[in-house]
Amino acid sequence: MSPTSSPAANQEFAELGLGPALLQTLSSLGYEEPTPIQREAIPHLLEGRDLLGLAATGTGKTAAFALPLLQLIQIGAKVPSALILVPTRELAVQVAQAVHRYGKELGVEVLPIYGGQSFQQQLKVLKRGVDVIVATPGRALDHLRRGTLHLKGLTVLVLDEADEMLDMGFAEDLEAILAEVPARRQTLLFSATLGPRIESIARKYLRDPIEVRIATDVDGDSGGDVPMVRQIAYLVRRPHKLAALGRVLDLESPEAALVFCRTRNDVDELTESLNGLGYRAEALHGGMSQEERDRVMKKLRGGTVDLLVATDVAARGLDISHLSHVINYEVPSAAKSYVHRIGRVGRAGREGVAITLAEPREHALLMNIERLTKQKIAVASIPTVADLHARRLELTRASVRESILEGGLDRFRVVVETLSDEFDLFDIALGAMKMGHEATLTGPEGDEEEIPIEKPFREKNRGENRPAKGKHGASRTGGGVSRLFIGLGRSGGVRPKDLVGAITGEAGIQGSQIGSIQISERFTIVEVSSDVADRVVQALKTAKIKGKKVTVRMDKAR
Ligand code: AMP
Repeated sequence: MSPTSSPAANQEFAELGLGPALLQTLSSLGYEEPTPIQREAIPHLLEGRDLLGLAATGTGKTAAFALPLLQLIQIGAKVPSALILVPTRELAVQVAQAVHRYGKELGVEVLPIYGGQSFQQQLKVLKRGVDVIVATPGRALDHLRRGTLHLKGLTVLVLDEADEMLDMGFAEDLEAILAEVPARRQTLLFSATLGPRIESIARKYLRDPIEVRIATDVDGDSGGDVPMVRQIAYLVRRPHKLAALGRVLDLESPEAALVFCRTRNDVDELTESLNGLGYRAEALHGGMSQEERDRVMKKLRGGTVDLLVATDVAARGLDISHLSHVINYEVPSAAKSYVHRIGRVGRAGREGVAITLAEPREHALLMNIERLTKQKIAVASIPTVADLHARRLELTRASVRESILEGGLDRFRVVVETLSDEFDLFDIALGAMKMGHEATLTGPEGDEEEIPIEKPFREKNRGENRPAKGKHGASRTGGGVSRLFIGLGRSGGVRPKDLVGAITGEAGIQGSQIGSIQISERFTIVEVSSDVADRVVQALKTAKIKGKKVTVRMDKAR
């Protein structure tokens, strides 16, 4: 379905000061309204102000800095006008893709640069000329030192997930990069947490910044009015979301559910996918005419449709009395929207259920919501295929029982009697049960996808007083930490960031899953989350650290 433009949405983004090309892009991406951080940050950023933004992933912070940046920089200058520093290569790729998406109409050239990628390839693109660079600090510094990256034309610098960059030991690299960028520039610093280290960076590098705090919007006015509903969150990564939603729908079998997505395009896509899977879903978003919306609502009230997939804007003011479930396909970007969304169930003494599918990275947003609502959201694993099968059998048992109690079975007596000449009564019952069960299925049983179980990123002890040397990164609360022995120490010239780089790069895990790093003369002990320990050992066995092959194993000392 092609997205229709929505003048009202454009109006809101236009009021923030964004120009026609960006408005066009936002409309084609299906964004219906700015998120709180976008509302607060964009007008100031467009005026050229520096910014200290406290916001976690999922709040829409990337667009909050990328949109004004794209409007302000000189595009096509052949030298980079903006540098965005991020902690990991995954994020470098993600942010670069976002900037590319937002800047498409403007013809912006974006290049992600991170370790592990060939220098030659990066050089080729750099020579051709790029407008925006998204880089991890280590690799950006390498390029600066080799003289392959010139930042004299820089007008905007963004430090994204700055707390994470510090946790990963990038403090020195950041200082070195900041020494190379022009003093006259706009600087934006985003962090999920605020502590003395972030404050000191902000004091040193930001000029009279405006402060935007989204991570702690607990003082909001909607905290008191939260309905009593059963609230569950399932942690699931993007590629498994659709399967997870299907699983949840099958298990919960909602009478009527409202499924929320962030954008109009997501609504259209999900509706189509759900219908393809045999569910009865209709889309509702701000790009639809009143007539279309009325038609959809009529279908829902009449029961020909039991799933409504909607954006926040479209669902505002809807009154659906028999709604049993609200499902957040993504965690809403503001805690207040969560409260509004779940307020649609659990009315008039009915039991309501609110289910949220969250990516592991979005765990912080969930906790933010818990703080606002003062209610617990149970974080559970997506039910397994075995759970699903058990639940389906339970449903079959319940329907057969109901059908026996209902009566009217006499016309089948002759069938059973005839079959009983040949078979045992118990076997006949089993055969009938199988037929009845299979009739309720949309596809063959056994084809269901097993959805990987995800663990939340642990809350970090962002203890700001940690020793600077030899101990690096956040120590974790709770159990599940494994110690790894690495046969390279101070005498081999290893630094915490080398290890963090090698571990995140080679094993593909997040910096937040690495705990303390204790470097001794001849070896190093690194703490990692136990659930990834094996993966790290395996990955490092074949990798080189500081150009050397090193011994890596689980440390048995504890
Ligand atoms: P971020 O917090 O930057 O990681 O963004 C989280 C997600 O929200 C991304 O998938 C964005 O595409 C999406 N997003 C950002 N701004 C908006 C908006 N105003 N409306 C809908 N979705 C948005």
